[in-house]
Amino acid sequence: MSRFLSGRFAALEPYTPGEQPQDRTYIKLNTNESPYPPAPRVLEAVDREQVAMLHLYPDPTCRRLREKLAETYGVGVENVFVTNGSDDILNMSFMAFCDKEHGIAFPDITYGFYSVYGQLHGVPCRVIPLTEDYRIRASDYECIGMHVVLANPNAPTGIPLSLGEIEGIVRSNPDHVVMIDEAYVDFGGTSALPLLRQYKNLLVIRTFSKSRSMAGARLGFAMGDSALIQDLERIKYSMNPYDVNRLTQVAGIASLESDAYYKANAETIIKVREYTKKALENRGFIVLPSKANFLFAKKPGVSGEEIYQHLRDGGVLVRWFGGARVWEFVRITIGTKAQMDTLLSVLDKLRSER
Ligand code: PMP
Repeated sequence: MSRFLSGRFAALEPYTPGEQPQDRTYIKLNTNESPYPPAPRVLEAVDREQVAMLHLYPDPTCRRLREKLAETYGVGVENVFVTNGSDDILNMSFMAFCDKEHGIAFPDITYGFYSVYGQLHGVPCRVIPLTEDYRIRASDYECIGMHVVLANPNAPTGIPLSLGEIEGIVRSNPDHVVMIDEAYVDFGGTSALPLLRQYKNLLVIRTFSKSRSMAGARLGFAMGDSALIQDLERIKYSMNPYDVNRLTQVAGIASLESDAYYKANAETIIKVREYTKKALENRGFIVLPSKANFLFAKKPGVSGEEIYQHLRDGGVLVRWFGGARVWEFVRITIGTKAQMDTLLSVLDKLRSER
């Protein structure tokens, strides 16, 4: 820390991103990426011609991409906002809607960035514990009288809320924004999108990083009432209007033209998830019932750190968070069946060594 750092940020604890090691090849099951490449159409769309256009700024309104998103998800163009990854949407939402007087509620065990954005922007955060069995209790958020951000399915547990539960939260907080972060919804969760027409305080946040195999391109989007979208645009145009680069816009449109490919991949990932869950349970693991592209698992008597380290030594990266209530767990991204079989065989070595 230099002596120039603003006092506002002295106590800030930044988010720790998952490892992206460059030293050797690991089976990467630590940051919930897709094991599959983008659709062939995406590879064709980002061609030499597009690269040659990089001397020109991209369309700051991302008009064609937003039109394609609107068509795909059955909303108006004025209901769609796009940014450089959905982390930016979350950040801009905290900036747009929250301040010292307008706090936000979220669970104790959830996506780590919510509390970081709270700290970054000096927003009071009400952190509500999950139940004993790691579920969000929807009634905790009903009539809460502050903004709410929930991942659905939740991360890193993978456990979803039903549409009825989400609606109860949105309906009972008409004067506050309810942000539903649907980063993992394509792997078996239920989207809150059908509620958008009825509720002006609902913001649905999505990403191309998981089910659409584009984590490296950085593309996130939000859907909500046009007034909420305008608020977010006000922030974006005060920060970085060109935040979605030219190649990513082209890739995003091509991705939306390849829905069948991504749906098939999501179905495979769901099958492999259920296979892996059973295989882990057969090995004595306790695995939470996930509807995401990862499993949150623990083995009684073995620390999460030990499992993480053993797997790392065996060439398989998973995520260990540590911290209260989750130190025993590791989060395992679902890769291909072959990758999961390698994970299982490395785990079997741990069992035989102990
Ligand atoms: N929300 C949740 C719950 C996530 O796990 C992630 C991925 N780390 C994000 C949002 C952000 O995704 P991205 O910025 O890649 O769109």
